[in-house]
Amino acid sequence: MGRLSRILAVLILLPVAAVWAKKTAAPVEFKAGTPEAAKAQQDLVLSTLVKGNSEFRKAQAAGPKSHATKAPQAKAASKLPLRAMVLTCADSPMDAERIFHAHPGEIFSVRVAGNVASPDVVASLEYGAHELNLPVLVVLGHQSCRAVETCLANLAGENSDRVTVNGQALLDRLEPACTDAKKDGFKGDALLQAAVTDNVKNTIRSILEESPELWQLQHQGKLRVVGAVYTKSGEVKWLE
Ligand SMILES: [Zn+2]
Repeated sequence: MGRLSRILAVLILLPVAAVWAKKTAAPVEFKAGTPEAAKAQQDLVLSTLVKGNSEFRKAQAAGPKSHATKAPQAKAASKLPLRAMVLTCADSPMDAERIFHAHPGEIFSVRVAGNVASPDVVASLEYGAHELNLPVLVVLGHQSCRAVETCLANLAGENSDRVTVNGQALLDRLEPACTDAKKDGFKGDALLQAAVTDNVKNTIRSILEESPELWQLQHQGKLRVVGAVYTKSGEVKWLE
């Protein structure tokens, strides 16, 4: 075979070899229980949530008549594995299965006004992490949260509504984030949005401070805790 023929043969065979290698490459598998396996599982859960939110937004853009705006209905929901815990607000748009276009039963959903870390909430998350072995917790705040808005109005002396004892306990949990956002000089809607973001970070901090068990799971790499904010456009913006 002449030199030119050899070069031509290599040029022809290289792409064929690349396609073959791609088809036959085995997926990387990690030994169960190792930190690498936990990380791979957490990455998969998070990418599934990102993809689900993208599908939800596409369905939203297609209009309310599109049946895809609803979360997909599973034929055998009970057989689907739970993937993530989502702590979010009780406000009506904050339906995690809808936002992440998940099947019923795929998300361990914990909802409370202002997505705060009250003892019952933390206990629920401990159950999800320990008993159900859920590897990811998303703390999901949202733009224009009425609980955060009420807390800011209270701090500004602009809330004329009577606050109950239980309501005050909730506002007390929101107050550090609202105070910090005010100190940072935000005003109007920017103040509300900054307080919402600060509150997500504050809730994550509180969960890990108030639960040594969750802190340990996170420290061991068995639980990944991430923050995010749901915007009015339906997009979930992930916090660093
Ligand atoms: Zn809210």
